[in-house]
Amino acid sequence: MKKWNYQTHRYDDYTVPEDWKVSMYETDMEKEINCAECGKLMKYGESLTSQRIFGDSGVFGYAVCRECHESGLKERISMKTVTKEQCEAALGSISDAIEEYCLVVNKDVYGRLEAARDVINQLIEEHEKLEKAHKKLLSLWGEDLYAWRGETSQLLQDAGFEDASKYLDAAWEL
Ligand SMILES: [Zn+2]
Repeated sequence: MKKWNYQTHRYDDYTVPEDWKVSMYETDMEKEINCAECGKLMKYGESLTSQRIFGDSGVFGYAVCRECHESGLKERISMKTVTKEQCEAALGSISDAIEEYCLVVNKDVYGRLEAARDVINQLIEEHEKLEKAHKKLLSLWGEDLYAWRGETSQLLQDAGFEDASKYLDAAWEL
C-alpha cells in the first residue's frame, strides 16, 4: 500500500493494522470492510475511493468511508492553490533564466532553465486531462524552444493558470 503525499508529490509507504480488512474491490456489496484510512467498519457498498491510499501500482485507490473520502478531496483541492504558487515561482525562475540566456548563453543558465522546466512539467503532469498535451510538450523541449513556450502557455491556460500563462508570455518578450 502507498499513501500519496500532497506536499512532496510522492508516494509514502503505508500500512494498516494487521486485523483491518481493507479492500480495493469486492463483488459482495454487503461485505464488512475497514476504511483504509481511519479503520471504521462499513459495508463495501457504502465505501468510496480513497484520494490518498493506493495499491502498490499507484493506480487503484482503496475503499474508504465518506468522511475520509471528503477530507481527501478537500486536501487535493486545497493543494491546487499551493500548486499554482509553485507554478508561478517556477515561471519566475524560467523568466530569470531566459533573461540571462539572452545576454550570455552558457551551461549554467541552461541548467537553471531545465530545472525550472522540470518543476513546471511535474505540476502539469498532475492534471490528468492534460497528460496527452504534456507528452507533446516533452517532445518539443530541446527541439524548438518557441514551440515549447507556445504549448506551455496553452497548457497553463487549460489548467486554469491564466496569470502564470500571461507571466510566461511577458517573460519571453524580455
Ligand atoms: Zn475513514
